[in-house]
Amino acid sequence: MTSQTTTQADRYAQSTAAFAKARALMPGGVSSPVRAYKAVGREPVTVRCGKGAIVTDIDGQEYIDYVLSYGPLILGHAEESVLAAISKAAGRGASFGMPTEAETQLAQVVVDAVPSVEVVRFVNSGTEAVMSAIRLARGATGKPKIVKCTGCYHGHSDGLLVQAGSGATTLGVPSSPGVPEAITSNTLLIPYNDLDAVRSVFKEHANQIACLVVEPIAGNMGCIPPAPGYLQGLRDLCDEFDVLLMFDEVMTGFRVAYGGAQALYGITPDLTCLGKVIGGGLPCAAYGGREDLMRQVSPDGPIYQAGTLSGNPLAMAAGLATLESLQEDGVYEQLEASSATLEAGLRDAASTAGVPIYLTRVGSMLGLFFSDSPITNYEQALACNTDRFAAFFNSMLDNGIILAPAQYEAWFVSTAHDETAIKKTLDAAALGFAAAIV
Ligand SMILES: *Cc1c(COP(=O)(O)O)cnc(C)c1O
Repeated sequence: MTSQTTTQADRYAQSTAAFAKARALMPGGVSSPVRAYKAVGREPVTVRCGKGAIVTDIDGQEYIDYVLSYGPLILGHAEESVLAAISKAAGRGASFGMPTEAETQLAQVVVDAVPSVEVVRFVNSGTEAVMSAIRLARGATGKPKIVKCTGCYHGHSDGLLVQAGSGATTLGVPSSPGVPEAITSNTLLIPYNDLDAVRSVFKEHANQIACLVVEPIAGNMGCIPPAPGYLQGLRDLCDEFDVLLMFDEVMTGFRVAYGGAQALYGITPDLTCLGKVIGGGLPCAAYGGREDLMRQVSPDGPIYQAGTLSGNPLAMAAGLATLESLQEDGVYEQLEASSATLEAGLRDAASTAGVPIYLTRVGSMLGLFFSDSPITNYEQALACNTDRFAAFFNSMLDNGIILAPAQYEAWFVSTAHDETAIKKTLDAAALGFAAAIV
């Protein structure tokens, strides 16, 4: 039972014990680094279960969740139709390594939804989707180099794990030991939202660049929307210099609009990567695009890519159920309305507390930066006050709101975040901003 005298340590006792065991057996005690809470100076809570907008930790405390598994759970946790679809599929067998009708059904839904996708290949993670799409871009063009923006995340494959060097274009320097420079030297870096940088890198490396890969709304340096005209400018420059345009919509696909950012902004890339929402919380991702490109993928063409568990029946079922729910009338309008309420409330709370913030939002994706100036690229994002974020984060967690434990992660809202959940979040945020200022 909770009482006034309950100490912080008591409240998180089970999580603390569980995490000690986890740390003995796994690097950082986690299966993915950000989950270890290093950026906010505490230990993570260990989750027992989730339902709707709420997750419950193993100490029995409940939190309104804006992590949502880092984006996939647009309908919230353990949503009924998704649960039913997974159970039904599980009863028929977990995996076959043979074609199932569910793959074709989900492929049809994706092709109907995403403007650029004429043919699609399913894989298991966003990392795999981008890695494979890059191979396709290189194989199809016969050109070795790729261009990416600093601060955009495209998974942890060797050639994409490069962020260093802001401002001027630099040859890629690996962000991790174990990534050979021979690989990253083919990755050219430019700042996000800067078309002049695109033109100059395209000119400098004429006829050597296979593709430009970009998050059409950057979501891995906080949420940074494209400047007006930026995506159209990318499309035009790619056409002018004969470079393929690849949108990494692993985060934005089915999130910011049913057809993703490309539908929202009306810009059609040559290749698109999808993940997160497309699998409804199960491991599923995809890459797709123009038919003449996609037909070069094995076995229609020579560019090899494969996967034992790709197109997994459980993942297909969860994805289909999720995307079907998203087709219902008013879903994106509801997400827009609750996210707008959240945005407005956060602005009010920060201003009442006297904390300068720069808040961004596209649909149900938000970015909260502790900064008094606008954030349009990675260099600016890195200059934010992360101590304030940590204080805000810790206060929110202690008051029952769970956020991703870094300023550079987006917030996600689900259809399960109702008025009560948003109101509770804003009450906690008033305390959180007050905590951030001291
Ligand atoms: C999450 C993410 C990825 C990586 O997906 P994983 O499933 O974690 O491998 C790639 N690109 C973007 C834009 C993402 O948000």
